[in-house]
Amino acid sequence: MARVLITGGAGFIGSHLCERFLAEGDDVICMDNFRTSTPDNIAHLFADRRFTFIQQDVTTYIYVSGPLDAILHFASPASPVDYLEFPIPTLKVGSLGTHKALGLAKEKRARLLLASTSEVYGDPLEHPQSEDYWGNVNPIGPRGVYDEAKRFAEALTMAYHRAHGVETRIVRIFNTHGPRMRLNDGRVVPNFISQALKGEPLTVYGDGSQTRSFCFVSDLVEGIVRLLRSDYRSPVNLGNPIEVSIREFADRIKALTASRSEIAFRPLPVDDPKVRQPDIARARQLLGWEPRVSLEDGLRRTIDYFRPKLAPGR
Ligand code: UDP
Repeated sequence: MARVLITGGAGFIGSHLCERFLAEGDDVICMDNFRTSTPDNIAHLFADRRFTFIQQDVTTYIYVSGPLDAILHFASPASPVDYLEFPIPTLKVGSLGTHKALGLAKEKRARLLLASTSEVYGDPLEHPQSEDYWGNVNPIGPRGVYDEAKRFAEALTMAYHRAHGVETRIVRIFNTHGPRMRLNDGRVVPNFISQALKGEPLTVYGDGSQTRSFCFVSDLVEGIVRLLRSDYRSPVNLGNPIEVSIREFADRIKALTASRSEIAFRPLPVDDPKVRQPDIARARQLLGWEPRVSLEDGLRRTIDYFRPKLAPGR
């Protein structure tokens, strides 16, 4: 049994992590300021006496009384639309927030797992992306606020490990979907599903030839837990290597929702990566991990989550 702090614990991935650690018998402290998350994601956890919630912005300071065994630092806007709306909080949570989380880990002698991202690879010139690739990021572009904050967070995490001996883990998370994604977060999965269910045109940005690879959240959570328990300190990619073009993805969502929506092409956002696919050889070898949920099964579950939220009268 352990005592675990999850920053961003009310977010999409954070709330699934809270559930997972509670299910394993651990005490969970969830910290969140609800900037891009919602209390709805954790409402069902308050009945568990091993669950504690602290409403706080982790960029200011973090106070937690008592011992801590692990910190999972997941606080951050994570959708391109969100980090365009909140550029400075995005930079602050990746830099100052990571500093606070690492300081707390050092103080409590806790293990810290940093939620990093495939965005550290930017618009990649290597394909698929392995952890040894250093990336192609535009530091001053609109996505730079997220990409550079996470790159800084990785650098700070390694520095705390080297200088202070903090036990650290870094996961680079590729596109993930599942229940508790925000319907209006602007990402392609909630956008296409809500458009398809409402019979509105699916907005494909650019010509739709850009690719992504979508992982279901339960697979991701399993990989994160395995990485936390491993003794591996270098970054590890977690994601589903099955790559689809966004144009093809629109057709898949239409088929799964039996939608007659049309496709509408819209301008491609600045610096939108042209390709993205994780090389997961490291996770396979070190963690014995690979995704188990097929794209279709996962999408069905995500669609089932969104459907009632779009019901008339809501
Ligand atoms: N996208 C799209 N239509 C939308 C939302 C996104 O075509 O309504 C595209 C976007 O340009 C990108 C891909 O889908 O190429 C994935 O976008 P998302 O915002 O989900 O996250 P990203 O992978 O870019 O971080």
